[in-house]
Amino acid sequence: MSKKRLKELFDQINTCQEEIQSIRSKCKHPENMCEYAQHSDTGNWCPSDDSYWTNNQCLKCGHRWMVDGGDYRGTCVSKLSQFLG
Ligand SMILES: [Zn+2]
Repeated sequence: MSKKRLKELFDQINTCQEEIQSIRSKCKHPENMCEYAQHSDTGNWCPSDDSYWTNNQCLKCGHRWMVDGGDYRGTCVSKLSQFLG
């Protein structure tokens, strides 16, 4: 593989990533387009080490993010506004 070809491939990756970023930044991740998966790590020797978290994914643009806590209701949209500032 030539150096030139490698650079072309990296340029393509950059272009694609920029496009994905642009799509995600415009997506409002509507609640009905979000998928949630709750996770927990419990039963630890020390109960304060137990933790709950929720993985969210927008099915419209593919953006994924994680929220602490087991109560996922409403986190999709509210966490996004935090995420975007
Ligand atoms: Zn989205």
